[in-house]
Amino acid sequence: MKRNIDTICVQGGWQPTKGEPRQLPIYQSTTFKYDTSEQMARLFDLEDDGYFYTRLSNPTNDAVAQKICEMEGGVGAVLTSSGQAANFFAVFNICEAGDHILASSTIYGGTFNLFGVTMKKMGIDCTFFDQEWDDSKIEACIRPNTKCVFGETVSNPGGNIFDIERFAKLAHRHGLPLIVDNTFATPVNCNPFRWGCDIVTHSTTKYMDGHSAQIGGAIVDSGNFDWEAYAAQFPGLTTPDESYHGLIYTKAFGRAAYINKIVSQLMRDLGSVPSPQNSYILNLGLESLHVRMQRHCQNALTIARWLEQNEKVAWVNYAGLESSKFHALAQKYMPNGICGVIAFGLKGTRDDAIRFMDNLNFVSIVTHVADARTCVLHPASHTHRQMTDEQLLEAGVRPDLIRLSVGIEDVNDIIADLEQAMSQM
Ligand SMILES: *Cc1c(COP(=O)(O)O)cnc(C)c1O
Repeated sequence: MKRNIDTICVQGGWQPTKGEPRQLPIYQSTTFKYDTSEQMARLFDLEDDGYFYTRLSNPTNDAVAQKICEMEGGVGAVLTSSGQAANFFAVFNICEAGDHILASSTIYGGTFNLFGVTMKKMGIDCTFFDQEWDDSKIEACIRPNTKCVFGETVSNPGGNIFDIERFAKLAHRHGLPLIVDNTFATPVNCNPFRWGCDIVTHSTTKYMDGHSAQIGGAIVDSGNFDWEAYAAQFPGLTTPDESYHGLIYTKAFGRAAYINKIVSQLMRDLGSVPSPQNSYILNLGLESLHVRMQRHCQNALTIARWLEQNEKVAWVNYAGLESSKFHALAQKYMPNGICGVIAFGLKGTRDDAIRFMDNLNFVSIVTHVADARTCVLHPASHTHRQMTDEQLLEAGVRPDLIRLSVGIEDVNDIIADLEQAMSQM
């Protein structure tokens, strides 16, 4: 039965049968027991389904991955120990030394470093493009060894909106899959697969959890990219894997080849599996995600409008505002709301921004975002501290940018706190 996203948030994943616990059990076990050696051998040959070691699969982790898979509408999903691990695996699953990827320049700072510095050391080169360049300028960055295009539905921290349909078409014209980090929008507000995206990633640390309780990530495979049509480009999926008895992923798993390769090969070799305890906590967050997102969006729009009218505020970027240059894209991809994150700048100096943040009362300064509690961060002083002003601007982060992550408290209380902090500047 096809269910609406609100129902999937609550009911997806764990499906107890007679006498089983109503709430998702935490299978806090590294391993699983079998009666004969033969049974175990069949599992290792991938001839049978079954749990044997939590690094490869675990019933608690799988139930939560299954829920996120259904929320996004994919053919398979896997949880990772962090959003960073999710983005690394999503790309590394189809790349090796000597390859190249294309990524939007306004992506999250952590992903920017992963692609621009760490993966470069592994021999995988990345070209960052400006989303505002026209297609021909971006296509000129594609090389024979390019393996994917990467972007964020809503960029962190700038709040830029990625034109998913446009970039899916652009990638597909060149036989490349489009990978989209859907962390800020969540599948409640945006369904990238509907617009041609092939792979979705998440930092489940953010709205999906929503309570600052666990670090986690997820990768979801749409099953729509035809790896065999570009077999020479993706040998990892279309030629025998000698570390798995010569198995060919596209032959063995069909549409779910990509996601099965992540589990059978990358998880096996690189780890980065979440603790079942964390997956349980994540699942509690997912059960209320649809209700929280509505409130985050409602509060954020009210506050963005208030900021826009405020004489102490120099600029506001929130795609929910009619004045935003991203408003039309947001209406197309996220008609029910975007997220709770607003980027804005105050009139005055960098120090004024810091003073404003120090004056806040319950709105707290944390290196976190997308939480039930309202919080702020000044990327130029915190997360992006290592960058020069020039690099900040390239990454879509103005030096005076304050990232306000609007929570689900009473909106009037949040505004009162912002107002008193500004009045003391
Ligand atoms: C936080 C974040 C990440 C990294 O996730 P972690 O769970 O912190 O490792 C990746 N992408 C986006 C958009 C994020 O906001």
